[in-house]
Amino acid sequence: MKNIKFSSNTKNEKLFKNTYWGNFELSKENNKYEDFEQIFKNRDLFVDEYKIVKNTEKKQRFICEYLKHLEKTQKMDHTEVYIDSDGKYIIVNSPYGEEKQIKGFEMIYKLYASSATTYIKKITKEEMKNEIGGKTQKEFMKDFIEKEKGKIYTCEICKGTYSYFNKSTHIRTKRHLKFIE
Ligand SMILES: [Zn+2]
Repeated sequence: MKNIKFSSNTKNEKLFKNTYWGNFELSKENNKYEDFEQIFKNRDLFVDEYKIVKNTEKKQRFICEYLKHLEKTQKMDHTEVYIDSDGKYIIVNSPYGEEKQIKGFEMIYKLYASSATTYIKKITKEEMKNEIGGKTQKEFMKDFIEKEKGKIYTCEICKGTYSYFNKSTHIRTKRHLKFIE
């Protein structure tokens, strides 16, 4: 009997259990283990190859700002952020489909699903701050809020809808939890 949660099918459950991906379930999603076996193996390979030691589930402010900066200019989806053994940040980006190139990112093996392509970017805290440039946090937030206003996302787990601003509330709603418990 295989494990239900995606994260439990990797050797490093702790690193993935709090990610969006890690909470998908084989049975509820009507997926077969075999369909995802390669992705689980790739997750293990990713941890070894990039010496991943930590998941930044509670994102610090500068990481949030940097991700928002990327979202404005790049195709970003299913973003995850890890820290490697050198203390560098590894940003994992897995949009659906296959982009030829995402600026500043390197394409690697698939870490999300067979229908999504995974790209990663290794970066230090200093480099993130430099890339954001002169904009103040206030300017960033203003631009970002403007961009997200009125945008509705469909939850891949429960098919409910949420805006960027209530995503964290959404994943704690009864409707959503029903699907992952
Ligand atoms: Zn949901």
